[in-house]
Amino acid sequence: MKKMGLTGKIFLGLILGAIFGIVLHYFVPAGNFRDNVIIGGVLRLFGRGFVQSIQMLVVPLVFASLVGGAAAIGDVKKLGRIGIKTVGFYMVTTALAITVALLIGELINPGYGLDLSQIVTSEPTIGEKSNLVDVLLGIIPTNPVNGLASGNMLQIIFFAILTGITVAVLGEKAKAFSDFINALNEIMMKMTMIIMLFAPIGVFCLIASTFATTGWDAFVPLLKYMVAVILALFIQASGTYMAMLSIFAKLNPIRFFKNFAPVMNLAFSTASSNASIPLNIETMEKRMGVSKSVASFTIPLGATINMDGTAIMQGVAVVFVSQVYGIELTLASFLTIILTATLASIGTAGVPGVGLVTLSMVLTSVGLPVEGIALIMGIDRLLDMTRTVVNITGDAVCTLIIAKKENEFDQEIFYNDNSELEEA
Ligand code: ASP
Repeated sequence: MKKMGLTGKIFLGLILGAIFGIVLHYFVPAGNFRDNVIIGGVLRLFGRGFVQSIQMLVVPLVFASLVGGAAAIGDVKKLGRIGIKTVGFYMVTTALAITVALLIGELINPGYGLDLSQIVTSEPTIGEKSNLVDVLLGIIPTNPVNGLASGNMLQIIFFAILTGITVAVLGEKAKAFSDFINALNEIMMKMTMIIMLFAPIGVFCLIASTFATTGWDAFVPLLKYMVAVILALFIQASGTYMAMLSIFAKLNPIRFFKNFAPVMNLAFSTASSNASIPLNIETMEKRMGVSKSVASFTIPLGATINMDGTAIMQGVAVVFVSQVYGIELTLASFLTIILTATLASIGTAGVPGVGLVTLSMVLTSVGLPVEGIALIMGIDRLLDMTRTVVNITGDAVCTLIIAKKENEFDQEIFYNDNSELEEA
């Protein structure tokens, strides 16, 4: 155990948690483990406790890292160039992801021959429909302190990048502030590594709860839908990302996945891009060799606006719902889906389950019934965990490519076996 690195320990927590959860589901009467003060209570305390501890880091870390990142890139022209490239890459990979998802959906036909009555158990509780102009307006905080206090990520990003640019423009005059921000950044990074020491236990409890709640039976009628989503996610990760890494960054993709495994494990167990931000930035710097200024700019941005995995789920879900309800999708509908799902990806917060809410926007855009969401709600958690892995992998791949192109990359760290992360 002593020799096992953090990656191995988190992975072990994941496997043991899944086994323990399934055993619990079938042995605790009616799967009602939550009522059990000892088992349910302990799992909740350590599982939720771990997630809340990471969430605690997100707002100060994202703010400090974006201000620091934007200020460190310094030159406004360079910042603009990196910003445009990053957003461009994020949009293109998302559009590609949905296209793959739509193709897989049409190939596997997950919704044909499905008996609705077995599945619809509850009415969906979807909030108001999101309107694009409101989403855009919502990015500008009328009161930044409010945005920070309520953890509104898009507002935080907007305000932080502007602050960073202004700090860079002011130079010496803002030195005291920029020293403070850099120190805050260091503190949050260190705190991340301390909290990550508890990851194996937290992950065990989170996964055990998930499996104890759902068991296997709930998945059977929706197996085809799940297979389609997972296949499309797999193609995105192993095809699109690997190709992008080898072609645009000339880096070994296998090495990439080896370095990135701890972040993937964490994203899987927390189902939250936001919760993965601290470890992702740390990994980019310490194991991938990306410069601090680039990683601390592109990773929080990606965790908020780049959701390739979520877009994939939405693509397959749209095909699924259209087939279940027998509504034909035209070529124009497919283009509309690609566009709306790319935009929905920006509006999807990096926390569990939100992809399902923004799916309503995509369904409505092509006139499909929002009630379709109820069909897939029950089994969404497992897919949420899987798509979150792809969401954050996309951020890392784009970050590496941009860092390489901007000469903000150290090849030696990327290929070095003695990663600093393991010793945290
Ligand atoms: N859980 C996803 C994430 O945090 C968002 C979603 O698809 O619900 O990246």
